[in-house]
Amino acid sequence: MAAKRPTNNRMNGIAKGFVFWALIAVVGLIIWATLQGPTLQDKPLSDIVSRANSGQIKKIEQQGSTLLITPEGQTNPTEKAIVPPYTNVKDLGLDISKVQYVGKEPTDNSVLLNFATIGFATLLIAGIFFFMFRQAQGQSNQALGFGKSKARLYGNDKKKVVFTDVAGNGEAKQDLTEVVDFLKHPKKFQEVGAKIPKGVLLVGPPGTGKTMLARAVAGEAGVPFFSISGSEFVEMFVGVGASRVRDLFAKAKKNAPCIIFIDEIDAVGRRRGSGMGGGHDEREQTLNQILVEMDGFEQDTNVIVLAATNRMDVLDPALLRPGRFDRRVSIGLPERKDREAILKVHLKDKPVEESVDIDSLAAKTAGSSGADLANITNEAAIIAARHNRKTITNEDFTNAFEKIAIGPERKTKVMNDKEKELTAYHEAGHAIVGHILPDSDPVHKVTIIPRGGTGGVTWFLPPEDRSYTSIIEFKDVLARALGGRVAEKVKYGDDRITTGAGSDLRKATEIARDMIIEQGMGKELRDQVFHEDNGGMMFDRMVHDRPYSEDTAKVIDTEVARLITEAAHRAEAVIKANPKKLDELAQALIKKETIDGDGVIEILKGAELPEAAKLY
Ligand code: ADP
Ligand code: MG
Ligand code: ZN
Repeated sequence: MAAKRPTNNRMNGIAKGFVFWALIAVVGLIIWATLQGPTLQDKPLSDIVSRANSGQIKKIEQQGSTLLITPEGQTNPTEKAIVPPYTNVKDLGLDISKVQYVGKEPTDNSVLLNFATIGFATLLIAGIFFFMFRQAQGQSNQALGFGKSKARLYGNDKKKVVFTDVAGNGEAKQDLTEVVDFLKHPKKFQEVGAKIPKGVLLVGPPGTGKTMLARAVAGEAGVPFFSISGSEFVEMFVGVGASRVRDLFAKAKKNAPCIIFIDEIDAVGRRRGSGMGGGHDEREQTLNQILVEMDGFEQDTNVIVLAATNRMDVLDPALLRPGRFDRRVSIGLPERKDREAILKVHLKDKPVEESVDIDSLAAKTAGSSGADLANITNEAAIIAARHNRKTITNEDFTNAFEKIAIGPERKTKVMNDKEKELTAYHEAGHAIVGHILPDSDPVHKVTIIPRGGTGGVTWFLPPEDRSYTSIIEFKDVLARALGGRVAEKVKYGDDRITTGAGSDLRKATEIARDMIIEQGMGKELRDQVFHEDNGGMMFDRMVHDRPYSEDTAKVIDTEVARLITEAAHRAEAVIKANPKKLDELAQALIKKETIDGDGVIEILKGAELPEAAKLY
């Protein structure tokens, strides 16, 4: 059996080819037959009518909206004219007594036509089934043939993506225009002895449009696009990935000029040889094969390999060497005006109420990726539809944004009055600390309706996009994060604090560690970075490569503890300085459940910043 398989496959191939061409031939014949028939001269209707009335026409046959005209002295029709639909020729002023008029039922023709169409469609469907059946068979025959790459080919058939479909990302598009140029006019570059780059790496956070941009390059250049995801390379058996790579590149070379797109290349392209055992040989072989193939390109092979990753730091340096992915295009999270553009792209065919303010939605969504924004518009449309509305309102957008940013409201979850009060004080604590501290973002909204995994939410939004954060800003963020726990403590006493602050504390610790380890913002460890390699698996355990001594580790711990303690003290100072305001805000929350930014400002008017909470 095994020995026969290749012949079988080839037979299949031939059969497939035959069926395909036979189908084409049949279709061609049918079209040809319909287009044929005697060629008749087109005449204006008025001409026919006047000639008929003066006796120059022998016979008029009507077939649907076509009149076939046989002039006097002829035996067969030589001319034709078109009547407007639903018109009777008698209404056109034609004197029926002067000619031989044969009004064929117009349906005659269409019945015939229908038969032809039905027959044709049946044939086509049968053909397609036959085709699919063959292919399925082919696949089962190749059950062990997974060395073949699964690369999908996006040719000119599928809906083309072009640069204008990708909103924003101006710089990336500019960089990639060059790649389009290489694919379109390779000669121009070869003539002056310029080497065309082989590999271009798209680097950026998830959902920023890397895949879209890669497809747009193919669309702009009008070349085929082979796409495969790094994770698809990795299968159980050693050698499979490598043979897939070989197959993929072979296919691509046959279709040059074209683009190979390796999505999520970090899945195969991680740094090699970190001494991790088991299962990694496969990845390494796959990666090696990619390198070999890229090196093997002739100078005139017009194949450009695009790859995308959001983790450039983990890539094997060999991939980044000249001659491989030596060009990098970085794609960032969209800025405000780009967010607006992306929102507009995704709202193009959605009915949006006129009052909707896309600009302010764009302002609120700092930190969202293109994919997040696409998601928001879709969610807003769903919300509108669920309320049986025909247009999307401002409120739908706000709800969609909040749902995506912090999870859906869970109104069904019932809290008893005690828990409700506790949540209200906890959230009021966050809000009051954030509101009073000078370098915190303003409060956008406070709610004690459970959302996602939390009991309530206090939400701060930056008034504008920012790229950098200073130590004092971080410190205010830490203090307001601890505000919830501190409010519980102030209101109920030291030992009555709850697990409600769990995620606040985790987040605060994360920020503090990041400040010390990655940002050089410690007091003792200022301007030093202790970046930990993300490590790898060894014996089923994550191993971290710590580039610092045990002593430094201790100092880091002290620094983190110092930041957290300071934040807790500042939060406590603010809350204790404004006991009335805390009560007022908490009671308002119990009553209304949700208060927006302006409401919070109104209630907290007159609250004060105590000396102990000041940093400077
Ligand atoms: P990535 O590959 O970077 O993770 P994708 O290219 O797959 O991101 O983008 C995911 C989706 O997000 C796209 O299908 C598109 O709907 C939306 N999107 C992302 N960036 C943009 C953009 N700049 N313009 C329009 N839509 C975008
Ligand atoms: Mg992608
Ligand atoms: Zn909290």
